[in-house]
Amino acid sequence: VPAKRGYGRVLLKLGGEMFGGGSVGIDPDVVGAVARQIAEIVADGVEVAIVIGGGNFFRGAELQQRGMDRARGDYMAMLGTVMNCLALQDFLEREHDIDTRVMTAITMSKVAEAYIPRRAARHMEKGRVVIFGAGTGMPFFSTDTTAAQRALEIGCEVVLMAKAVDGVYTDDPKINPDAKFFEHITHREVLERGLKVADATAFSLCMDNLMPILVFNLLEEGNIARAVGGEKIGTLVST
Ligand code: UDP
Repeated sequence: VPAKRGYGRVLLKLGGEMFGGGSVGIDPDVVGAVARQIAEIVADGVEVAIVIGGGNFFRGAELQQRGMDRARGDYMAMLGTVMNCLALQDFLEREHDIDTRVMTAITMSKVAEAYIPRRAARHMEKGRVVIFGAGTGMPFFSTDTTAAQRALEIGCEVVLMAKAVDGVYTDDPKINPDAKFFEHITHREVLERGLKVADATAFSLCMDNLMPILVFNLLEEGNIARAVGGEKIGTLVST
């Protein structure tokens, strides 16, 4: 049975690839559209933390394939995520007058605050949107894992996984027309069926700590508000 929907404190995970609009760098139209969706839920009084990926700049594993040291590539990629954070911060503040704080796992005091968990929670209580940059600060991890860890540490009720698909299917719906859509699925069943909701580290963190994940389509205007407000969209992964 799906858990109650309608959340007060959420962690929103956004893929970096979307921020680039399919190429390297920032697509202001995409960032602007995402900021509009976020502004809606902030206006409703929802406490919002955000983790953004870095796939529109670098991925350590890809740099490694081209001959670079993996850890160094991962650090480059983590720095890339910070640019995405600053872009989103800019749109939230300039177009919507929303107080935001970027907090990074790698200290860079000229552009962002250091990640201090209790300070992050305090920002959220005051209605500020907190954007977590530089992943976990550790190579060999992902921003999905960052999202799971931060959600757990600062007490979010759910990880909202914003994707370019409607949710979780039995198979890739673009390839297999018989793929079945899940409105609800347990963490265990995701594993047993070999489905992919997040990378393995991120997923096991959520499973072990009973953190629900809502996978939903970001590309439909208003979907973040629907996800937060308890409308039936996407796939809820919970126990
Ligand atoms: N990364 C890392 N440690 C972290 C988070 C990210 O090393 O804690 C690096 C890693 O190279 C990763 C890249 O940053 O591939 C970008 O993050 P991710 O692939 O999660 O971004 P997304 O796919 O969501 O755009």
